[in-house]
Amino acid sequence: MVKSMHFDVAIAGAGPAGLSLARALAGLDLRIALIERLPAAQLADPPFDGREIALTQLSARLMRELGQWQQVDPAEISPLRRARVLNGPSPFAMVVEPDARHEELGFLVPNYLIRRAAFAVVKDMPEVTLLDGRSVRHIRTDADNATLTLDNGDTITAQLAIAADSRFSETRRAMGIAADMRDFGRTMMVYRMELERPHENTAWEWFGYGQTLALLPLAGQRASVVLTLPHHQIETLLALDDAAFNSDMARRFDHRLGAMRLVSTRHPYPLVAVYAERFAARRFACVGDAAVGMHPVTAHGFNFGLRGAWTLGREIAAARQRGADFAGGAVLEPWAQEHRIATRPLYLATNAIARVYCDDSPPARLVRNIALRSGQQLAPIRHALTAAVSGTSERPPLLSRVAGTALAALRPRHRESA
Ligand SMILES: Cc1cc2nc3c(=O)[nH]c(=O)nc-3n(C[C@H](O)[C@H](O)[C@H](O)COP(=O)(O)OP(=O)(O)OC[C@H]3O[C@@H](n4cnc5c(N)ncnc54)[C@H](O)[C@@H]3O)c2cc1C
Repeated sequence: MVKSMHFDVAIAGAGPAGLSLARALAGLDLRIALIERLPAAQLADPPFDGREIALTQLSARLMRELGQWQQVDPAEISPLRRARVLNGPSPFAMVVEPDARHEELGFLVPNYLIRRAAFAVVKDMPEVTLLDGRSVRHIRTDADNATLTLDNGDTITAQLAIAADSRFSETRRAMGIAADMRDFGRTMMVYRMELERPHENTAWEWFGYGQTLALLPLAGQRASVVLTLPHHQIETLLALDDAAFNSDMARRFDHRLGAMRLVSTRHPYPLVAVYAERFAARRFACVGDAAVGMHPVTAHGFNFGLRGAWTLGREIAAARQRGADFAGGAVLEPWAQEHRIATRPLYLATNAIARVYCDDSPPARLVRNIALRSGQQLAPIRHALTAAVSGTSERPPLLSRVAGTALAALRPRHRESA
């Protein structure tokens, strides 16, 4: 029999962003529905998905505040001491190092463990009702409520509906919110390898000619490798046996890390970046990849998702304290504007970097080289890079705020919440 249920907040998607928001709303006396397509057993114990998430200092702090960090085995948290950016066959590398306040730029934590930790802190919250194995089919909102229809015909009304259902968010689409989408026509494959030579806790971003390689240092002699190629080439690599794959990888890394041995499954991801035109509407907001789905080259997707969930939780808590409508435009609009300012400049810069560094034409090779060398030599650029990689403040960096305000002013049309 079809059911009608009422909650204060309905969150579509129990990925890392949706779960972080649910946790950020703890203790506010709000009844929360979490609607998730996957079964609860898979949320509790998600499988390895190849992704190692580079977390900024800010994200580590927010995860601690939300109780998620404490759920991750410390042996699975790898410090990121520095990053090297390389171009083509040149031995020159631009090096990004932590500022004087920190020993490391950030931390690497496997995505499946972030998901497990984020679920562990939410599953026993008395105010949360998990509707697993369910997806959102339709949504409409009016001045007082959002009404969501699930795939089994059940309906949910809530004062606020949240889309946290991935970069291809069906809930965002059902709300009629458009998104800029950029398909890079490439696929990224991620997997773990054991290295013959030490990685010295240094990440590599190597914009080679014809391929992009990243190396993320894990505990011991292990590293996560991220290889970006046209899809048909990834398919060929997926079909190789381990021995052929290992020698192909050592060759791709120009033998700089010695012999390499595959120690995990291989996971391909198509490269599509997404930016929602609006983060908020009447009784509705987008968080996580549903708002900003980053190209992973600058490693900011979840960092932004966590930040957005945390700042939205903070604004809702403040509204509850004032006795104001927590899901009205006066709360959602300023939050959406702040999140846009925090994310838009890096989103655009990331797409530009991905384009230039996938372009192997002679002028592009020259621009790439000049950019890396000036980045190394000019202190302001170096400091800006360190700040972008380690992200130490929940306030957007000054440059971002100025650029974001200008972009927001240039953006025509609507207010965020109608
Ligand atoms: C290869 C790779 C490397 C990355 N590296 C980094 C990094 O180093 N640093 C970083 O910060 N970020 C990184 N990211 C990005 C990061 O993984 C994402 O930003 C993050 O997982 C997004 O979380 P989310 O909760 O918004 O979405 P998702 O993780 O996509 O979760 C969405 C959830 O919604 C559910 N769902 C979908 N549709 C529906 C529906 N209609 N109804 C109900 N439920 C639904 C799904 O089952 C899923 O559980 C990387 C991404 C990739 C692909």
